[in-house]
Amino acid sequence: MILTSIKALENNYIWILYDKNNSCIIIDPGVSKIVVKKIIKKKWNPKAILLTHNHQDHTDGVKKILKIYPKIIVFGPRETEKFNVHKIIQGGDKIHLLEKDINIISTPGHTLGHISYYLKPYLFCGDTIFSAGCGKVFQNNYISMYNSIQLIKSFPGNTILCCSHEYTLSNLIFSMYFLPNDKNIKHYYKKVQKKIFLRKNIFPFYLNNEKKINIFLRTNEYFLKNSMGFEKNKDDFEIFCYLRKNKDIFGAKRD
Ligand SMILES: [Zn+2]
Repeated sequence: MILTSIKALENNYIWILYDKNNSCIIIDPGVSKIVVKKIIKKKWNPKAILLTHNHQDHTDGVKKILKIYPKIIVFGPRETEKFNVHKIIQGGDKIHLLEKDINIISTPGHTLGHISYYLKPYLFCGDTIFSAGCGKVFQNNYISMYNSIQLIKSFPGNTILCCSHEYTLSNLIFSMYFLPNDKNIKHYYKKVQKKIFLRKNIFPFYLNNEKKINIFLRTNEYFLKNSMGFEKNKDDFEIFCYLRKNKDIFGAKRD
């Protein structure tokens, strides 16, 4: 099983998994043209589309891809129903594609019905977690988002987070505002900056590393609470809300 991605729109990642037989699955195609172009070029045989949530930058390519490849089966949570979804799935379900089991994980918060797809070691987590950050909370359901992030945090450390957006540098700048002396964050910022300058890919994002540099995964840390001026027994969930709401104002990204 080989993973690849296509950059689309302003900062979306469309993920494609393909196997030795050249069968492939596409995750969150927000556009169609470049996806189809790549499929043709690589001579892939697309079997399925997986959707994480109902935002158009994740779903807009589905209809046109289906016109060209009508045999594709589209999977998604109920909230994506109107985007040509054939099979509605939910957390706890398991689907079998490319001779592999894919576990469906309920990860609400960014949207109420957001799901993620786990095919070890890959977690296609949509707009739940980004490198050094997390997605916006659109329907005010902060507790769900907090719980989804805690759930992802409990996955094996070598899990590779396949996020749908990449805002790593701006997320790290936001983190350094709260933790200006954090060695891990500073080091990672320099590393990412260099890679971007050299036009190198900054993927993969390992959960182990995110636990060190992503402040949304560190809301239980005394160090973090202290530098934000909170007591050490301040509730982790309140820290999460504080950070996420500040991020909305700080350098607001669309997602
Ligand atoms: Zn979204």
